[in-house]
Amino acid sequence: MKYVIIGNSAAGIGTVEGIRQVDKLGEIVIITNEPYYTYSRPLISYLLLGKTTEEQMKYRGNSFYTDNHCTLINGTVTEVSAKTKAVSLSDGSRISFDKLLIATGSLAFVPPFDGLDRVEPKFTFMSLDDAKKLSNALDPSKHVMIVGAGLIGLKCAEGILEKVASVTVLDLAPRILSSILDYDSAKLVQSHLESKGISFMLSCSIKRFEHNTAILENNSEIPFDVLVLAVGVRPNIDFLKGSVQIDRGIIINGKTETSTPDIYAAGDCTQTLDVSSGQNKIMALLPNAYMQGECAGINMAGGEKSFDKAIPMNAVGFFGLHIITAGSYNGEVYTENKNGNYKRLFYSGNKLNGYILVGNVEKAGIYTSLIREQTPLDSIDFALVCEKPGLMAFTKEIRMVKLGGGK
Ligand SMILES: Cc1cc2nc3c(=O)[nH]c(=O)nc-3n(C[C@H](O)[C@H](O)[C@H](O)COP(=O)(O)OP(=O)(O)OC[C@H]3O[C@@H](n4cnc5c(N)ncnc54)[C@H](O)[C@@H]3O)c2cc1C
Repeated sequence: MKYVIIGNSAAGIGTVEGIRQVDKLGEIVIITNEPYYTYSRPLISYLLLGKTTEEQMKYRGNSFYTDNHCTLINGTVTEVSAKTKAVSLSDGSRISFDKLLIATGSLAFVPPFDGLDRVEPKFTFMSLDDAKKLSNALDPSKHVMIVGAGLIGLKCAEGILEKVASVTVLDLAPRILSSILDYDSAKLVQSHLESKGISFMLSCSIKRFEHNTAILENNSEIPFDVLVLAVGVRPNIDFLKGSVQIDRGIIINGKTETSTPDIYAAGDCTQTLDVSSGQNKIMALLPNAYMQGECAGINMAGGEKSFDKAIPMNAVGFFGLHIITAGSYNGEVYTENKNGNYKRLFYSGNKLNGYILVGNVEKAGIYTSLIREQTPLDSIDFALVCEKPGLMAFTKEIRMVKLGGGK
């Protein structure tokens, strides 16, 4: 059996580990267009911050490829042929497969701002190469503008703040981290970031750039030395050209199979069922990418595995302030907001749909598990779980299962 994996990151590595749970001998070829050992993408901001090194960023130990008998090929896949069961690379070579996994992740979305072509230097912040290039452009005299107050833009801001004269983050949305935080929690996190020295311009729309000055819709002018574009990400799927069915991302089922036999997909390039909302979504998150990859690998090798518990979930910290969010934000709410700690739970129809925790994030796993498992809230002491999440709020039978003592 010959397995080919496109992408050498969380989903690709999960796939290798899934395959090897079932098939110790089959040939595995990984194709990647990044010239690096597999690394943990969320750590690129910590590299700039000086809190990690390239060696420490490795997502797996130094003997991973040899231990798992994988061949790593550096190249860019330009075409997938389902008919001939082969992929084509930009250097003209072709590699055949019995089973293929597509794990090509996301690309930065760069809006077509008028005048952007004359801005220099400008960067996106998605990869180790991006982080290295950005780092080379920074020094204590530089004023940096980051467009996008989402997770990637703010991680970048945290990573570079100490190295430059100023960091201003600009966003169209009226609050930071607008896809994961509500108004009150966003305010709390924004105040924390401002106390560290980051400036924000929210509800701001860029009309055009005139060299290194942003002209806003209200005609104010914001000059900068370095521009970082962190507006959003898009699945990296354009090269697939009809070889598998695509909506916003590659469509996969609960076994991570695409619409085309023997072709699987995992990670940021896919869209999958969010059990907390019942909607199909792109969930560009590392744990989902790994778990989908592992599921794909097991199925590709002839095992049986489903990944049907995906939910959007973020665990992130900024200058020591922790944030964990999960699920969807609909239904009734339970809120606590005191001493810099924020908790909001969303529930309806006898189940927990989502939560936002800022500050004290202890026991977030209890809430995550209630969402993933769709636990009926009348089977637990939900009032107690809201205030003090802990196993004691569960019935004895559920506690036994959670503690591994029962089935
Ligand atoms: C700055 C930053 C911070 C983040 N923080 C968090 C966080 O706190 N929590 C969290 O859950 N997630 C976070 N993420 C998202 C997380 O990194 C992704 O969800 C995860 O890396 C997805 O893994 P993946 O394997 O699907 O794709 P990717 O990690 O994007 O890897 C895809 C790989 O495929 C390669 N590739 C693409 N196209 C081709 C081709 N045609 N041929 C060959 N190779 C190709 C790419 O070069 C890349 O190496 C962060 C991301 C960034 C950029």
